[in-house]
Amino acid sequence: MQTNWQRGMTEIVGEGGLLLGDEQREKLSKDYYWYSPVLEPLLRDKRADGIVVPESEEQLAEVLAIAYRQSIPVTTRGAGTGNYGQAVPLHGGIVLDMSRLDAVLEVTDDYARVQAGVRLGALEKKLREEGRELRIYPSTYMKATAGGFVCGGSGGIGSITWGNLWDGNVREAVVYTLEEKPRRLVVGGSELLAYIHNYGTNGILAELTLPISPKVEWRQTVVQFDDIESACSFAHSVAMDDSIRKRLVTPVEWPIPSYFKPILKQLEEGASACLLETEEGTHGKLAEHAALFGGRIGHVIPSAQYHRTVGLSDFAWNHTTLWALKADPSLTYLQAGFHPAEFLSQIKKIKQAFGDEVLIHLEFIRSAGVVTPASLPIVRYTSHERLYEIIAYFRSIGVGINDPHTWMLEMGGRGELEAMLEAKRSNDPRELLNPGKLNVPVREAAARGDER
Ligand SMILES: Cc1cc2nc3c(=O)[nH]c(=O)nc-3n(C[C@H](O)[C@H](O)[C@H](O)COP(=O)(O)OP(=O)(O)OC[C@H]3O[C@@H](n4cnc5c(N)ncnc54)[C@H](O)[C@@H]3O)c2cc1C
Repeated sequence: MQTNWQRGMTEIVGEGGLLLGDEQREKLSKDYYWYSPVLEPLLRDKRADGIVVPESEEQLAEVLAIAYRQSIPVTTRGAGTGNYGQAVPLHGGIVLDMSRLDAVLEVTDDYARVQAGVRLGALEKKLREEGRELRIYPSTYMKATAGGFVCGGSGGIGSITWGNLWDGNVREAVVYTLEEKPRRLVVGGSELLAYIHNYGTNGILAELTLPISPKVEWRQTVVQFDDIESACSFAHSVAMDDSIRKRLVTPVEWPIPSYFKPILKQLEEGASACLLETEEGTHGKLAEHAALFGGRIGHVIPSAQYHRTVGLSDFAWNHTTLWALKADPSLTYLQAGFHPAEFLSQIKKIKQAFGDEVLIHLEFIRSAGVVTPASLPIVRYTSHERLYEIIAYFRSIGVGINDPHTWMLEMGGRGELEAMLEAKRSNDPRELLNPGKLNVPVREAAARGDER
């Protein structure tokens, strides 16, 4: 017998748009939160009361109106590949699955306008067929959605050239509020900062306009080194060389490459490595940089095979962590930001303090135009206390940490918190959007007499 809200939802999205089965609710209530040994036990039993899958903006608005009237928590889902339980509902309610809002609406020379549920891999493929390409995308691009990347991600392949999401890589967004009559907001410019990396806590993105650029033929190369310091120094010199167009510059410390099973035969036993995507024709320059740091050019994937076979980005960003976890479940990771100039001495201090308890993995990006060593170090997990000792040490030597072992935006996230809170106050008066992930300052809630 359907409940009131279930009947209301079925009238809008039809039988096929409301999923109530245990397995469906379990599967579509989870993301990659299990990357964190801290989050895993806390989130494993969380599940939505139902999954709602709208197929149009009209249906989306009607679903949100019912949720408001009946005070039903709404947790938005793209493809559920986020790492910090962002798409896991903490207080039941519905998971709003955006995967059927996946149309590519418009492609011009310099932007693509898409529905938020479009898969980035499908979009990149379409763009490359038309001589263009995405500027930045996560290493999960084959599954991840545009909305999930903008609301849950930060940067990825291409960030070495174009920066992160906050560096002008979102041009416009259509946002729905959760109110009696949900409003359709068209947001651009600095207003977008309230919605980038918002975990769906202050608005639902239905449409996105993303800048794109002309297609480049990308060659993938692995360069190997006797030690991580040489690999990082090489990576930095390539990252700083503007004559080499690049999409990926990823140095990793041995034994991390030993976890890369599919390409292990092509890798040098015991060597730290740098994974690169650079423009076809730049291999001469790469060899010059490699010679300066004792590097050996190894595995190469010519541009003709780009995105047609296992690529090096399948071992970069948080895929590096995935391969490490597959090899040794006692491993986990951090999200760190090293100093653009002092990173080598910071790495030295960390290795002196922790040895193999911490393995170095950098991702060179441009942040606000500055070449910066972002990082997803692999950490051997022994206890919660020890993990936060390591975090405290990183911070004590000037390495920034965005803690991936919390679902709370104000604790682990990044982005414009004040702007996000402002938007939440106006767009989500009943605080039903992904409750528990962005917490309105206590005093305000107390003033309203909220019990949450
Ligand atoms: C192996 C691996 C590698 C990864 N590599 C990267 C990487 O290189 N770079 C990176 O940034 N991240 C990375 N991630 C994290 C994640 O894959 C990306 O952030 C991805 O873009 C998320 O997209 P998704 O569609 O799966 O989003 P989901 O996980 O479904 O959602 C992410 C967040 O966005 C919210 N959300 C989703 N859609 C909307 C919408 N339309 N409106 C409002 N809120 C919405 C959700 O509520 C949730 O809070 C990686 C994760 C894994 C497991």
